[in-house]
Amino acid sequence: MKTWVYIDHFKGEAVSASWEAIGVGKTLGPVTALVFGSGVETLAAAAFEFGADEVILVEDASLTDFRAEAYASTLTALASTSNPDVILLPTTFRAREMAAMSAIDLNSGVLIDVTALEVDGDRITAIRPIYEGKLQEKTACANKPQFITLRGRAFPRPAREAGRSGTLNRAGAQTGAVTTVEGYSAGESGVSINDAGVIVAGGRGVSNNPSLGLDEKATAEKGFTLIGELASLLGGAIGASRAAVDAGYIPYSHQVGQTGKVVSPDLYIAAGISGSIQHIVGIRTAKLVIAINKDTEAPIFSVARYGVVGDLFTFLPLLTAAFKKKLGK
Ligand SMILES: Cc1cc2nc3c(=O)[nH]c(=O)nc-3n(C[C@H](O)[C@H](O)[C@H](O)COP(=O)(O)OP(=O)(O)OC[C@H]3O[C@@H](n4cnc5c(N)ncnc54)[C@H](O)[C@@H]3O)c2cc1C
Repeated sequence: MKTWVYIDHFKGEAVSASWEAIGVGKTLGPVTALVFGSGVETLAAAAFEFGADEVILVEDASLTDFRAEAYASTLTALASTSNPDVILLPTTFRAREMAAMSAIDLNSGVLIDVTALEVDGDRITAIRPIYEGKLQEKTACANKPQFITLRGRAFPRPAREAGRSGTLNRAGAQTGAVTTVEGYSAGESGVSINDAGVIVAGGRGVSNNPSLGLDEKATAEKGFTLIGELASLLGGAIGASRAAVDAGYIPYSHQVGQTGKVVSPDLYIAAGISGSIQHIVGIRTAKLVIAINKDTEAPIFSVARYGVVGDLFTFLPLLTAAFKKKLGK
């Protein structure tokens, strides 16, 4: 099967689910990785090290910043001359957008946020969670190329083989009519919640500790500092509920849930989060959930393997100290 894998990146920093996609691609046959951007040759080298057999490198100043039109047109142009059977991409906002645009150009379709594949000859059936993770749907794409976006951390990341290389081919960009006049980054400091093996998340509860004698915002800042300390000790990322984001305690890029990000960490620690259905759908594939909440009836306890009924301001420092001791840090 002719398999292409799109390496999604933000300003030259690869989304690690791109490497997972190479691993999935290798189960279908030899993999051609697609690297678009400007000054991104190191990503091509990394793609080889993660298992790509060929890399199509498209470098052009017009591709410095991601623009869906230019990236999708470039993908369409390449695919219409080379006719791949399948194009795998990580499930990110960027990759979803360009896959959708390119699929329309090529009269095909996109299977989104897939967590498993069944392969029969050159026909792929994709399995993906629907109805907020309550059901698994089997779905297939009738036309080719079959565009499939893969959920981050749903598939193993292949081992990196230093110095491995393959065939590097360069191609030209389709720049399109749109240019970037000004850009800004919403920014996500530290480890991204998409890639994190550990996420420590805070909800509205981080703003609730009258004994500190601080106002709501200052209390929340203190709460998220405690969360950040534990996250960084464990090499993890900071997550948040929508209530915490809406209240302005933390940027949207940290939001987990239906209208935030769907995450699959090995460990998810929810502190001061009640566990609304819209939050739970974002953590259904987390392997282990620990909840810290003052309310014994909080719904988060129904999805947590371990529950701590108590104040996060008391418990988080104890947990951090215990991990420090255990890890010898
Ligand atoms: C269309 C739609 C989409 C949505 N999308 C999302 C989404 O993507 N993600 C999301 O999270 N929500 C989403 N929501 C909002 C969701 O319904 C909830 O309102 C939200 O998740 C509540 O956030 P919370 O648990 O932090 O706050 P609350 O529900 O207010 O819970 C706070 C919790 O903190 C506990 N607590 C308080 N003080 C402490 C303390 N000191 N120590 C320990 N525990 C304490 C309380 O007991 C309580 O359980 C969405 C809603 C809608 C309608």
